[in-house]
Amino acid sequence: MSEFIEPVDFDRDTGPFFAAAREGRLVYRHCRACARGFQVPGQYCRHCGSADTEWRDAEGTGTLYTWTTVHHAVHPGYPTPYTVVVVALDGAPDARFLGCVRGEPLFQVGQPMRVWYQTLADGVVLPNWQPVDAGHVDALPTPDPP
Ligand SMILES: [Zn+2]
Repeated sequence: MSEFIEPVDFDRDTGPFFAAAREGRLVYRHCRACARGFQVPGQYCRHCGSADTEWRDAEGTGTLYTWTTVHHAVHPGYPTPYTVVVVALDGAPDARFLGCVRGEPLFQVGQPMRVWYQTLADGVVLPNWQPVDAGHVDALPTPDPP
């Protein structure tokens, strides 16, 4: 059993999201009824409830919407401190993605962020986020595959 909590990557709602990530693409759900994007993916629009939604490709850039730093360890796979970021997608700012950065970086609301792809055990690829000006990826460590 992995000490890292792995996402469900094969169900109807999330499967296409993780399949795209394995190809190095970031996708999100777009609602044709209200023309807004949303994340976490689902069959119905989070804003208006319409089922007239589709997958769209994203550029993989966004701006920092908010963040919080965790100092109290709640799981052995997530050493503290780490910072959970919420990124508003460029071109579809209603679609907001979660990411996780090691430590407690000095962030500013609206700073440019970019996606990168973190490969977890069992081949799951998780889109994650880092500041555009970061010279390196500083994500949480992932355990070796079993
Ligand atoms: Zn909608």
